[in-house]
Amino acid sequence: MEVRSCRNCGKLYNYLGRSTPLCPTCMNVLEEKFQVVKEYIRDNPGANITMVSDATEVSVKIIKQWVREERLSFAEGSGVGLECESCGANILTGRFCANCKSKVQNDLNNIVAQNKPKPVEETRKKDTSAKMRFLDN
Ligand SMILES: [Zn+2]
Ligand SMILES: [Zn+2]
Repeated sequence: MEVRSCRNCGKLYNYLGRSTPLCPTCMNVLEEKFQVVKEYIRDNPGANITMVSDATEVSVKIIKQWVREERLSFAEGSGVGLECESCGANILTGRFCANCKSKVQNDLNNIVAQNKPKPVEETRKKDTSAKMRFLDN
């Protein structure tokens, strides 16, 4: 058994492989806070992260962490103040914007495509269509 000290109250507790380094008491408090924050956002869809933090007395850092974990999401235009970890664009939930998410997906596809030998037929077809376009002009 592994004993750790709670990051919030400093009390020693049995660490059971939790992702959040908190004692069971603080975990419960945090979970209640999560519900409060979630309800507040639902009732105030235009609220930004600072307003939510002020109203619920939960730190911006913790709220952002929940958003990163995609447990919470803010409404469009609420200015949640989260940035894509790749390009810095404003996002509402998670870690990356839609663009970077699809870019990552494309990169994966490209890697797969590059490993395939290019069919000769494909190159010829491209040449023909280029010539035809030239003649049309
Ligand atoms: Zn604690
Ligand atoms: Zn991005």
